[in-house]
Amino acid sequence: MKAILFDHHGDPDVLRYTDVPEPEPRAGEVLVRVRACALNHLDLWVRGGLPGVSIPLPHIPGSDIAGVIEKIGAGVTNVKPGQKVVLAPGVTCGKCAACLAGRDNYCPQFTNLGYMIDGGCAEFVRCPEVNCFPYPENLSFEEAAAVPLVFQTAWHMLLTRAQLQPAESVLVLGAGSGVGSAAIQIAKFLGCRVIATAGNDAKLARAKELGADETINHHTQKIKDEVRSLTAKRGVDVVFEHVGTATWEDSVASLTRGGRLVTCGATTGFDAKIDLRFLFSRQLSILGSYMGNKSEFATVLKLVAAGELKPVLDRTFPLAGCRLAHEYLESGAQFGKVVLKVD
Ligand SMILES: [Zn+2]
Repeated sequence: MKAILFDHHGDPDVLRYTDVPEPEPRAGEVLVRVRACALNHLDLWVRGGLPGVSIPLPHIPGSDIAGVIEKIGAGVTNVKPGQKVVLAPGVTCGKCAACLAGRDNYCPQFTNLGYMIDGGCAEFVRCPEVNCFPYPENLSFEEAAAVPLVFQTAWHMLLTRAQLQPAESVLVLGAGSGVGSAAIQIAKFLGCRVIATAGNDAKLARAKELGADETINHHTQKIKDEVRSLTAKRGVDVVFEHVGTATWEDSVASLTRGGRLVTCGATTGFDAKIDLRFLFSRQLSILGSYMGNKSEFATVLKLVAAGELKPVLDRTFPLAGCRLAHEYLESGAQFGKVVLKVD
């Protein structure tokens, strides 16, 4: 089969479009013919290499996959060849206390397709049967592939970790990112007031189209000052963080009393500091969040199928153009998802 492969970490030019053996599904697994695979910041980290993480090489990246079941392994009963599926990105042991409690993103063996195991930047991908979810028929393959990681992550952050309540106020950083565009929609679905940030006017206009009530240009305006003025000095209940060092101080300062900051990433750097006086006196919560569980994924898929949440597609590239797609994603020019189309 054709696949995108890299055998060492580095810049986008380590990605090779090449022939590799087609995987064979083992017991409890399926082989999926990939029709579309969305990219995430995770793909950039995986390709570049992460300190302390040893990714088996050579490696096929790609976590967000929509396609058609090609073959099933022994004992597979829930799906059959020819069936369209969208895949839950998280692969876990299925047996530990966390998995049995439905908290599979707390599984010690948690990984994503395309992270510690081969992913979907290929004509075929092998995955556990339990990762196959019902296909939202209102979506194209490219749109369906744009759903899993970002909507599941944003849902876990806002609902499960930050316990977002209807009509609260939320500051969503980086509206142009995949998670940002998902978070705006989820918060609006709950009837919340959404203040969104982005780096240019075109992205701010798109954020409003997605439902943001107010927007802040984080290049020309100071986030904490704008939040203060937009909320009559009160601050917001929840800050949706994934930017890291560049925005951290403003994010913490934008919280109201009892506010919760939830973060799933740090694209501008991992260093952050916090003034403990504000943490305790304002009774703030700082919450880490990692991916999401299969139950949350099922919920977001239902809302997507019902048209309540919509994947935001920026641009598609052919599988062979994966290197260009990585460069484009790295440039930060996109609004929404960058997706590889596999023919
Ligand atoms: Zn487990």
